Amino acid sequence: MSPTTRLEDLEDEATLQLDAKGNLRHLLTLKSLDKALLTEMLDDAERYLTAHGSLPARSRSLVGRTIANLFFEPSTRTRASFDLAGKRLGADVLNLDVNTSSRKKGESILDTIYTLQAMQVDVMVVRDASAGVPAYIARNVLDHVCILNAGEAEVSHPTQGLLDVLTIRQHKGRFENLKVAIVGDVRHSRVTMSVSQGLTTLGVGELRLISPPALAPDPESVPGALIMDDLDAGLEDADVVMALRIQRERIGNLDGIPGIDEYFANYGISAKRLEIAAPDVIVMHPGPMNRGIEIESAVADGAHSVITQQVTNGVAVRMAVLDRVGRTLAAR
Ligand code: ASP
Repeated sequence: MSPTTRLEDLEDEATLQLDAKGNLRHLLTLKSLDKALLTEMLDDAERYLTAHGSLPARSRSLVGRTIANLFFEPSTRTRASFDLAGKRLGADVLNLDVNTSSRKKGESILDTIYTLQAMQVDVMVVRDASAGVPAYIARNVLDHVCILNAGEAEVSHPTQGLLDVLTIRQHKGRFENLKVAIVGDVRHSRVTMSVSQGLTTLGVGELRLISPPALAPDPESVPGALIMDDLDAGLEDADVVMALRIQRERIGNLDGIPGIDEYFANYGISAKRLEIAAPDVIVMHPGPMNRGIEIESAVADGAHSVITQQVTNGVAVRMAVLDRVGRTLAAR
């Protein structure tokens, strides 16, 4: 069987991630998680935050457990964040060097997984450029192994979605009256997919997805969102603005994609442009940032920016998720 994105697989993915008692067993997508569970996960993450300058939060809840980070696509912050999260919970963390891994030598992904399973790895954190891979692995592992999706093609990046939603909640409290504007290469953004799913479940007031027409999403993939191509209209009174990178590695044909200068002029978040948004707007970016293309440095480092807070929240969210699947394993 090969990884696919067939509808029945996506439905299956939703049921796959909870066990019979409704506990989180795998984290594959935010799509099917209800408001109560999302809220609990955000509350858990808050408990792993400490004041700047003090030591980071720690617990011993995963002592004796082993986590393997399997990133078949490049990653800096997500991988480092999962690594620290696992270590701060007391787990043994294995970071596989995928450039020399057996998969490069032709081994099937499942053989790699079975090898790690035989080494008594409990949690596998997976990033892959093909849609369907995390669910495919989840369907094939033993009962006591958890799979966490750390970025799946352009379809899902659930821990990023959670950390973004947490950052918004910290600044804005409630979601009902918020206008959230996500700007850039929406079509190829798994971050947009996950954050949109989380925000929709939490009852966001208005979700605007703003991009050049060639980078607009399929409306069916983001039900309820407003799809726009005029940045000024999209920024009007926005409470939250998230800038995205153009994901050139996912774009086969660059026709219709504006050049850098044109892109910045039409879709770049500059200090001037930000004046259209609400006076207390927060500015987010999932990283990696291309300064001067999708965001001006003055904005990225400015008073409205919460970009480094997103990174801090990322570790807390991953600790909360790891701890939760650890509890599911312990309760078996
Ligand atoms: N780091 C994010 C991701 O893995 C965003 C990006 O790469 O632009 O999707």
